[in-house]
Amino acid sequence: MYPELKLFIAGEWRTTRRDMAVVNPATEQELGRLPCAEQSDLDDALDAAERGFRLWSRTSPRDRSDTILRAAALMRERQEEIARSITLEHGKPLTQARMEVIRGAEFFEWDAGEAMRTYGRVIPAAQGHKFTVHHQPIGVVAAFSPWNFPMSQPARKIAGALASGCSIILKAAEETPAGAVHIARAFADAGLPAGVLNLVFGDPAEISSHLIPQEPVRLVAFTGSTPVGRHLTTLASQHMTSVLMELGGHAPVIVCEDTDVRAAATSGAIRKMRNAGQVCTSPTRFFVNDAIFETFTETFVTRAAKTVVGNGMDTGIEMGPLANDRRIPALTALVEDARSKGAIVATGGARHGDTGYFFQPTVLVNVPDDARIMQEEPFGPIAVINSVTSLDDAITQANSVPYGLAGYAFTNQADYIDRMIDEVEVGNLSINTLEASMPETPFGGVKSSGYGREGGSEGLDNYMTIKNVWHSSNIV
Ligand code: NAD
Repeated sequence: MYPELKLFIAGEWRTTRRDMAVVNPATEQELGRLPCAEQSDLDDALDAAERGFRLWSRTSPRDRSDTILRAAALMRERQEEIARSITLEHGKPLTQARMEVIRGAEFFEWDAGEAMRTYGRVIPAAQGHKFTVHHQPIGVVAAFSPWNFPMSQPARKIAGALASGCSIILKAAEETPAGAVHIARAFADAGLPAGVLNLVFGDPAEISSHLIPQEPVRLVAFTGSTPVGRHLTTLASQHMTSVLMELGGHAPVIVCEDTDVRAAATSGAIRKMRNAGQVCTSPTRFFVNDAIFETFTETFVTRAAKTVVGNGMDTGIEMGPLANDRRIPALTALVEDARSKGAIVATGGARHGDTGYFFQPTVLVNVPDDARIMQEEPFGPIAVINSVTSLDDAITQANSVPYGLAGYAFTNQADYIDRMIDEVEVGNLSINTLEASMPETPFGGVKSSGYGREGGSEGLDNYMTIKNVWHSSNIV
């Protein structure tokens, strides 16, 4: 059920001398061994990607699009096999893993369409002159994808690169490699030319510090934490290499007094626990108008406490384990810090069971501003519920973090919504839904949440560069 794990370089699968264990976070048992790239593998990947770029950038947009669509169709066909390996390595419930496979295929399908719409423009000019603007693929992309969505995170990066005519070297997450391996297999089977997509694993710092300074690499695309994003941006800037950074978030949810309070609370409790809270858009800081605070909190806590936690392979599970053991002490410390400063731990707050990396669905209420969790993204199943006196108060609280990725609100008041569109500092604002992105909508952050957008008609911009052409009919 779990695939054999290999690097994919220059169209060939390869193993290496060094390897590491991939562990099932629900059982702590080893699933397989993952080869780690040596410098010579990275150099081979760079050579292959350079050759791949020369070929793929000259391939017609329609042919590129067709290849991507063939690979996406194979991913849909293989949905069950891919979903099972995602649940094994990541822990999420199988139903969520199945949805992730389809979302990954949709990312490819959307960008395959966009490949044929990277329009330039004509600028009016004097008689005998033509000004034209051309969008051209930027070059080799070095991409780094995280472990929270083993299939859809690599899909975003590979789709953007391939649709734009770039080649890519992807270092996918070592804890959850199978999603990316399945994608590479689908592209190999769909007839993607060798070298256009290269997949490596290993020591993240070793790989990024080797790849980013290389001349053919013209874009660094990263999804992960803000500190690592900052480090990679610094490295890229020394070589004038562009970056696309999808970093952390700490999403506020503004709950206004006019909303259907029980429906909003239930939706919040369910959505917060999705993917065990390991989502950069996870709704975390709930700012609830004090007129409805009590009912909201009671409904939310009751539903959160009922979350069915267990091995994602079992039927009826709503929340699996955390994807790795690093987050258990990190989350415990955040809860203890908040408790010591006066927050109420209304449910959860500790590890769940003693096998597997499970954490209890946790709700903290009346959390003081100086608690670390008010500034630090928990990236786990912890919600904060605080009361606010007005929309002004809620917007001030929402904007009081360095992050600005997703933000949410529950209200039907048009004037409130207009104010939030103008004033909430996020890249993605959703009203009366806790979904933040679709393949056809641009996704990305402001402030310390990063630069650039993935998806939407903006999604290929970072992967392309602009060439202006001035054609004069006569020598002047
Ligand atoms: P981390 O900062 O150690 O790693 C985050 C990701 O970056 C991992 O995939 C890791 O392999 C990669 N990475 C780390 N150092 C790197 C380097 N020098 N070069 C290239 N890649 C490197 O943190 P973690 O413990 O794995 O994850 C926890 C934090 O990461 C969370 O608090 C969250 O903020 C963030 N995160 C965000 C997302 C997202 O979707 N934005 C996804 C996963 C993790």
